[in-house]
Amino acid sequence: MKHIVGYRCTICGAELPYDERMTCPRCGEKGILDIVFDYNYIKKGFSRESLAKDHNNSMWRYAPLMPLKPRDFSPFLRVGWTPLYPSRRLGAELGLRALYIKDDGINPTASLKDRASGVAVAKAVELGYDTIACSSTGNAASSCAGNAARMGVKTVIFVPQRAPEGKVAQLMIFGAKVVSVKGDYKATFDLSKAAIEKYGWYNRNAGINPILTEGKKTVALEIAEQLSWQPTDWVCVSVGDGCTIGGVYNGFKDLYELGMIERIPKILGVQSTGCCPFVDAAREKRGLIPAEENTLADSIAVGVPRNPVKALRAVSESGGKWIAVSDEEILDTMRVLGRTEGVFGEPAGVTATAGLRRAVKEGLIGSDETVTVISTGSGLKDVKNALRAAGSPTLCEPNLSALDASGIL
Ligand SMILES: *Cc1c(COP(=O)(O)O)cnc(C)c1O
Ligand SMILES: [Zn+2]
Repeated sequence: MKHIVGYRCTICGAELPYDERMTCPRCGEKGILDIVFDYNYIKKGFSRESLAKDHNNSMWRYAPLMPLKPRDFSPFLRVGWTPLYPSRRLGAELGLRALYIKDDGINPTASLKDRASGVAVAKAVELGYDTIACSSTGNAASSCAGNAARMGVKTVIFVPQRAPEGKVAQLMIFGAKVVSVKGDYKATFDLSKAAIEKYGWYNRNAGINPILTEGKKTVALEIAEQLSWQPTDWVCVSVGDGCTIGGVYNGFKDLYELGMIERIPKILGVQSTGCCPFVDAAREKRGLIPAEENTLADSIAVGVPRNPVKALRAVSESGGKWIAVSDEEILDTMRVLGRTEGVFGEPAGVTATAGLRRAVKEGLIGSDETVTVISTGSGLKDVKNALRAAGSPTLCEPNLSALDASGIL
């Protein structure tokens, strides 16, 4: 592939050829790799002008910046090119110069994970695999199953027995072979790893596969293009494994290297106080240590993040900040985002916005600044917590006098 130079290990810096490997042989599982692109080669066919003429309204418009061979992407699900809404009320309430909301819950399986799964499925197809495997309780699994179903690729998904019904339902509908493991998440992950080694399926386990970050970076490419190559001062991202925030930074870095934007936005990494290994590490100026997974924002309840280097780099190199918010603030933000902007996010989906609200309160982000928040998943994924945030409807007999007496009007 002419647009790729090779891999670089994020730990030891070793340069490696671009092949099917996923981690650095010297550093083992921790040796997560960066894909090194040849920007001079890419520049020849990819620019603001070429994009302006491109009417492909999906993340595949950025295929020249993905680690894939050129191909026709029209058979795939339409991932990406999600709306970037200028805030109508919340930005003014917070006293910001401008606020934008990137609603990634609009993706085909209703989360930003579709960007990673779309690229993973494209890679599996390119390499000729007929089965993809993944272990997850949530959006990584459902997006993998959906995007693979579209392309006729089989999926084997490992979930812990206690996985939420709604998310399991999505998997069953997409025709995945769903293995419900009698054990916790770690036991589930370990079984999937052993099975992948035995059966040789394509591995879409979160964190280590460098392709996934390169899919997620398309959200940053879109934000920049949708803002006419003048991204906001800040971009706020909720963080679990760290793959999403790493991707956001990679996307802006690509555009900066290509001369398509003049500066990289500061990135605000947001976690729940119930599970915030990155925030703790930043505050105490030390490395990561395993944290409890004690938050209702299940998609970011990751005590041992598998992509720490890319996540830490995203915040430090962009001059950003880490911040944690309570589960109460997350539930309150579900309500606020729904009521002020019409955007319905799952708890992890609105965590970035909750972090923005706290950052404004603490004076970390000022009134002269512009901000984009990413809403990473739809609120319909987690109806139970939505009702917890918003309360129950008013019960009423079917006549007008009962309606008048109910007090709801
Ligand atoms: C996975 C996920 C995140 C966090 O992404 P990481 O790559 O794990 O940091 C945030 N929000 C939602 C809805 C997710 O599914
Ligand atoms: Zn290494």
